[in-house]
Amino acid sequence: MISATHLIDGQCVAGEGINVSRPSPVSREAIALAPLVSAEQAVKSAQAATRAAPDMATLDISQRAAVLCDLANRIEADAQSIADLVTLENGCPCDQAVGLQIGSAAGLLRAYADLALTHSFEERRTGLRGGYTHILRQPVGPALGIVPWNVPLFLACMKLAPAIAAGCPIVLKPSPESADSMGRFAQHLSQLELPAGGVQSVIGDADIGRAMVEDPSFAKISFTGSTPAGRAVGMAAMERFARVTLELGGKSAAIILDDVDPTALPSELWLAIMQNNGQVCGAQSRILVPASRVKAYEDAIAALFDGLVTADPRESGTKVGPVVSAKAAAAIKEVVAAEIALGGQRLTQDRPVRGGAFVAPTLIRPSAQSAVILERELFGPVATIQPYRDEDEAIALANDHRYGLSGSVWSSDTDRAVAVARQLKTGTVGINTKKILDYSSPFGGWRSSGIGRELGPEGINAYTETSTIIAG
Ligand code: NAD
Repeated sequence: MISATHLIDGQCVAGEGINVSRPSPVSREAIALAPLVSAEQAVKSAQAATRAAPDMATLDISQRAAVLCDLANRIEADAQSIADLVTLENGCPCDQAVGLQIGSAAGLLRAYADLALTHSFEERRTGLRGGYTHILRQPVGPALGIVPWNVPLFLACMKLAPAIAAGCPIVLKPSPESADSMGRFAQHLSQLELPAGGVQSVIGDADIGRAMVEDPSFAKISFTGSTPAGRAVGMAAMERFARVTLELGGKSAAIILDDVDPTALPSELWLAIMQNNGQVCGAQSRILVPASRVKAYEDAIAALFDGLVTADPRESGTKVGPVVSAKAAAAIKEVVAAEIALGGQRLTQDRPVRGGAFVAPTLIRPSAQSAVILERELFGPVATIQPYRDEDEAIALANDHRYGLSGSVWSSDTDRAVAVARQLKTGTVGINTKKILDYSSPFGGWRSSGIGRELGPEGINAYTETSTIIAG
């Protein structure tokens, strides 16, 4: 166990707020036994960000890029230690943790370093009323990045990297569930050659987050988390017209086309559904299969799930570990039990699991299209399977949802899969891949999955305001 560290105005400091302690879902020992940030410390971070704004805005673009590469190198050198902390915090299997939790963050930082160097911060256009216009993309000002616990470093970097690239100071507000890993991350942030207050991290709970969203120091709020919390953040931001990006929940569909042999399922399919124990916003937790061979697909996918080693995530070979807490596991099991009581069928074995936070990988044939299990994001190793008669019905089922974050199409014919993908009303669609994003291209949700886009040049533009100079 280590103490949560906060980075405020260039200094690593201990928290002066409430003490949190919770059992690790893995070891069941107390983790994150350290004070969170206090409301006063959060205000100090906002003031420091305001002071840093002019220096951040004028920081040379090559230095912004160098800082991002420096951070990538630092976390990569410390990858195993940070990954071990994340595994203890949220159950991420050790075989996945270094790549998913830290490698992805380092890759994203380097991608943004390159993007920053080539980004179009100024543009000249021929005026359609004569003369020309000159468009400036200026730093929006101090930013607040609120992040959840499931992939904490990566999601923090999704906000920090474009903010630095655009010349904005940013205060990260990670979740208490990720206090140890994000405390260690803060120590790396403190080593960066940036103005004091250029990057800060204050680990706090939802109350601290709420207060920070209302702080007028922040011109921009980028929030990743659940849809209910995102709605509250968005409404509070609108009260004072703060710029806002919301990356929210999902319930994405994996469409398996009829040319996929059920006896030879694609090797990445299980990861698209169960990576990080299903605790991924873009998890493909609604599986759609051809009705003509529904039994063959049900049997094959149930056997795949039953074969996933569900054990201590610190052991190599474990495919599924516990979810973040016993409380989260109980909530997932409650939805599954309610669905079975309504006539839904469990197709996987109800096998014993080793502790309160574990949920056995579960495949459910739902009782109805209106079933709660189809509607609600469960954030665990549970998926549904539904038959479709033809591609039009598969597309309609995939699109018939309040969430629209991700999706995937699986086929031996890429052109055919892309033709289906083009009809999906969702932010990102993978073809035969577990990947739910690419650093080069916009990522974000339709409908209740959010507003705005991260990654790619769009991600940098989200931390800028345009000013147009008209030369008559
Ligand atoms: P959460 O909404 O409970 O918390 C997320 C963060 O917001 C935490 O730091 C929390 O302290 C803070 N917070 C909560 N309520 C707040 C409020 N009213 N004002 C300000 N801050 C507040 O979510 P969680 O349980 O930590 O994470 C899981 C959720 O995150 C899932 O719904 C998942 O789909 C979503 N998520 C989305 C993406 C994406 O990119 N779309 C990525 C990862 C996770």
